[in-house]
Formats: sequence, C-alpha cells, structure tokens
Amino acid sequence: MALYVHKYGGSSVADAAKIVNVARRLADVYDAGHQIVTVVSAMGDTTDELIDLARTVSNEPDPRELDLLLSTGELVSITLLSMALRNLGYDAISLSGPQAGIRTDSAYGRARISEVDPERVRRELAEGRLVIVAGFQGLAPDEDITTLGRGGSDTTAVALAAALQADRCDIYTDVAGIYTADPRVVGKAAKLAAVGYEEMLELAAAGAKMHPRSIELGAVYNVPIYVASSFTDAPGTLIHNASDDEPMEDRIKVTGIAYQTNVAKVTVCGVADQPGVAAALFEPLASAGISVDTIVQNTSADRMTTDISFTVAAADLPRALREMAGLQATLGAGQVISDHTLASVSVVGSGMQNTPGYASRMFRILADGGINIDMITTSEIRISCIISQDKAHEAVRLLHEGFALDEAG
Ligand code: ASP
Ligand code: MG
Repeated sequence: MALYVHKYGGSSVADAAKIVNVARRLADVYDAGHQIVTVVSAMGDTTDELIDLARTVSNEPDPRELDLLLSTGELVSITLLSMALRNLGYDAISLSGPQAGIRTDSAYGRARISEVDPERVRRELAEGRLVIVAGFQGLAPDEDITTLGRGGSDTTAVALAAALQADRCDIYTDVAGIYTADPRVVGKAAKLAAVGYEEMLELAAAGAKMHPRSIELGAVYNVPIYVASSFTDAPGTLIHNASDDEPMEDRIKVTGIAYQTNVAKVTVCGVADQPGVAAALFEPLASAGISVDTIVQNTSADRMTTDISFTVAAADLPRALREMAGLQATLGAGQVISDHTLASVSVVGSGMQNTPGYASRMFRILADGGINIDMITTSEIRISCIISQDKAHEAVRLLHEGFALDEAG
C-alpha cells in the first residue's frame, strides 16, 4: 500500500463532467489498494472571476477580505469532488486548508506555509477515507484565512506530501509533462521522462507551468513529483533527485532549452570605478522591489570610470529608469541607455557542471544563425545569452537542434 498525494488544477475540475472524471481516477487508485489525499484548485477561471468581482465593489480590495473571498473557490471544488466520489459509492471527505492543518504566515495574497499539521488528514486516512483538501489556502497565526499566491495549490500539494511522507506527489494538469523546450515554439520538443529539481526550476516555461515554490519544497524534502495530464493516460515527467538513478551517460547531456521574452537592459555609463558604486546602484532597485537578473560590469581601461549593465523585466523598466535618474547626480554617472526589446535564451543541464565546451558550442550555434549576443551569464547548470527579442524563437529552435534535442522522427 502506497500513500499518494494528487493535485488537480483548475482546468481539470472546470465542470461537472471533469469533476466526475477526476473522481473516477481517484476511485481507481483507491481500488488498487492505496491511500490517497487529493488537493484541488478552484474550478476553471473561478479565482480570476472572484478577483474581478471584488473589483466591482472596491478599487483596492482589502487583502484580508480578498483572501477569504478567494478561498471560497477551492471550497466549491473540494466539496463537489467529495460529493462525486460519494455518489460513486466511496467514503470521501473534503477539508479546507485550515482543517487539513495548513498553517501560514500572515502575508495575505502571498502567504508562505510555516507548518503542516497532518493529524486530521492521517485520522481520516486511517478510517479508510479518500481525503480531498482545498489548495492555495491556509490559516495564519491570528486564525484568519490566507492564500499562497496565484497557482499556489501545487505548493499545498507538495507540502502535504512532505508532511505525510507520501510516496509521491502527482500533479495533474492540462499539459502532458515537462518538455525539452516550449512545445509551442519547438515542434520537435520531446517530453522528458525525468528531470532534476534544479533543472526544472530553470525550465519553468517548458510545458506544464508549476508554482516554483512547490519545486523548491520538493527538493528540500525530497518529494518525487510526477507531472502528467489529467485527460490522458500518457506517461508524464518525474521531477526528482536526478542523480539518484539516472544512467551515468545521460547526466552529461543538455536537458533542455529555456527562454524568456520581455527582458530589458539598462546601461549606466561612466560610473566611478570605486568601492560602493555597485551597492549604491542596486540597493534602490532592491528596495523598490525590482528584481535584477543579469549584471555585467566592465573593467575600466583608465581605472577611473566604468559602465554597468543589468537586465530587468520589461514591465519594471520605467521604474528602474526612474531610480537610475535619481542616482545620476549623486554618482556622477554619465548617460543611462536602455533597450526593452530583448530576450534571454538558456541551455540547461546538470551535466554541464565541470564540462567545458557547452558555452562555446552555444555561441557557435547562435553565430551561425546570425544571432548577436548582447550579454552572457552562467550558473552551474545553465548558460544564458541575452539576444534580440525578435530572434528568441529562432534561437530556441536552433539550440534545440544544435544540442541534438530534436525528437527523432
Ligand atoms: N485557484 C488558485 C489560482 O487560480 C490557485 C491554483 O490554481 O493553484 O491561482
Ligand atoms: Mg487556477
């Protein structure tokens, strides 16, 4: 007997027929002799609709009230799923996040799980019940309801799986798994049978989109996460500790190609080449909540001044430029130049660690495609190039082919 946590996203429980479909899938797992805890999201676009509804009565809905309102979406789906299971003759029980022991901090709209007390869920399982838990919600220390941030049900599911020491956490969605590249961009993208947690975080845009915090939790508590479609029985992707059981040679391969559009670059020219300048530049951005990705500082030829370039999300560019304008006078910096028409493309793979040649191969592929590289950054498992946005899709396709990831046939 195994203990599984399943999670079904909004599109998998969007209407009555789909809820009954999920109920049947759960019944099969139960009939095979397993224990099962199921986390569900709100039906279809319910959460969006509730947010719109709140805005019809208030321009800036009170965060506490908004979280309590949003939590109702998941209460609808858990109760309906439990009723559908009971209708099929199974003993099911639905539990809200607080009833299931999900405790959070008090940050409305983006609460973090502080603890899961699995006692009630364990008791229900011991009674032989199928337990259905509301995703995306929890209880703050002051006993108010919080939500975990959009898409947070994945994180509820992995947190529960960790607390219950479940054998696996299955995330069922409308995409069949994680691919070697975004399947909408690369027709020959291949579904990955397995991927490491860190690679998964880097590949976030390739296929099923998951709440990043769920992957981080999975990595910390070593919860194997299986991502698959709720509509087919096609095999999905296992996100796990890749080094565990991967054939040795597979670990030296590139896993996939990731990309991100709407990247903006800011260059501050002629800043003094002396201690404290970078801190003075980036501290205001951090306090303004603007996250900076790539940073390049050139060594100055004359040892007097240097140029610093960095990238931000294009949506943050106006605010970043405002911060820079405020600093220009104090830092004695020269011109500030910006470009908001950029993208980043990345080659991802844990096998790249300590293996030379990946970067040069990437640059060669882009060069042969006539694609100019603006900036370059690397991490242990990723090499990223900033390029022109209108070349992004072409670059992804060329790299996918160049690193021999195109699906055969
Ligand atoms: N219903 C919430 C949302 O739409 C949580 C989730 O789907 O995971 O963001
Ligand atoms: Mg949703």
